[in-house]
Amino acid sequence: MFSKLLQAVLGGFFALLATAAAAAPAEAITIGGNMVKPGTRSDFRLTVPAKGDEPETFIPMTVLHGNDKGPVLAAVAGVHGFEFASILAVDRLADRIDPADLTGTIIFVRIANIPSFEYRVPHFNPIDRKNLNRSFPGSKDGTSTQRIADILSREVVARADFLMDLHSGDAGEFLEPFVGVYGGPLAANFDQALKVAKGFGFANLVRYKMNTQKQVDTGRSLNRQGVAAGIPTVLVEIGENGSRKEEHAEAVATGVENALGILGIWDKPRKNVPPALRYFESSTAVRADHSGVFYSADPSRRYIFKGDFIGTIRDYTGKEVQLLYAPTDGYALYGKRGPSMRKGDPVMTIGNPIDGF
Ligand SMILES: [Zn+2]
Repeated sequence: MFSKLLQAVLGGFFALLATAAAAAPAEAITIGGNMVKPGTRSDFRLTVPAKGDEPETFIPMTVLHGNDKGPVLAAVAGVHGFEFASILAVDRLADRIDPADLTGTIIFVRIANIPSFEYRVPHFNPIDRKNLNRSFPGSKDGTSTQRIADILSREVVARADFLMDLHSGDAGEFLEPFVGVYGGPLAANFDQALKVAKGFGFANLVRYKMNTQKQVDTGRSLNRQGVAAGIPTVLVEIGENGSRKEEHAEAVATGVENALGILGIWDKPRKNVPPALRYFESSTAVRADHSGVFYSADPSRRYIFKGDFIGTIRDYTGKEVQLLYAPTDGYALYGKRGPSMRKGDPVMTIGNPIDGF
């Protein structure tokens, strides 16, 4: 009798605790000196100061901060400023999510690489001709791209409980939509990242197993900065050749909204999405040994087999300098359409198929 009573009292107590935890009020947060109050949206710029000959630039942000405490999702678009589908997705998401509905916070980086976007330069920041997605964690005292990376690392990634790195096929690229999920001993909470990845409903899922610190550190991308910071991370890729299709922007937006439900940031019903068709364990890049004019045998996503002809690079006198063949069986996830090619560039990236994970 007594124990039943105790159970009832304790049960009530814990239920109360759970309710209290679910409804804990959020406090204001400050990002780069900009205070965001609970239940509000805030739009501001993080300034990337001028240095030497390099002009000042900025990172446009929208933060949606819920009334109640909860997880922080950072969704970053435009690390490559010519990859438009993800940039357009974040633009619409910032308007259609009401911060009052959130238990937690969304930090949207609307366009990480404004110089690349405004000057319409694919792959690189035109100020210092560096690839932001190889420049993390960045440096306060470095060149323009390194300073952008430093601010993103400190003000965005370091605050997040979950990171989404949103990309598209850049100019001159073909690309099959896929979501990359970080797993392996150095990645955090693969199961949660996989659930979020499946919420996008893309046909292809790629697991990037982080086994060594060297893998995390070499030419560190934004997504691997998430891994280094110990947060679950996904890489989202859709669209090709600098496209800006409505269905691609909407597919990214759906995936982000589904993630809000999976992460417990809101309780709205999730949208139905199809299951993944193909699973890959990392990928294999085929690289150019020469700069020159590239003739692709077939610049499209497809199954490919070891020994299949990929294309020819001719030098600037018209001499054939490299014939490229697939080094492995797999699926051509993305690659260069040609004709421009630079020594060291990945010509094609082939997903290594597995049954699932
Ligand atoms: Zn990209």
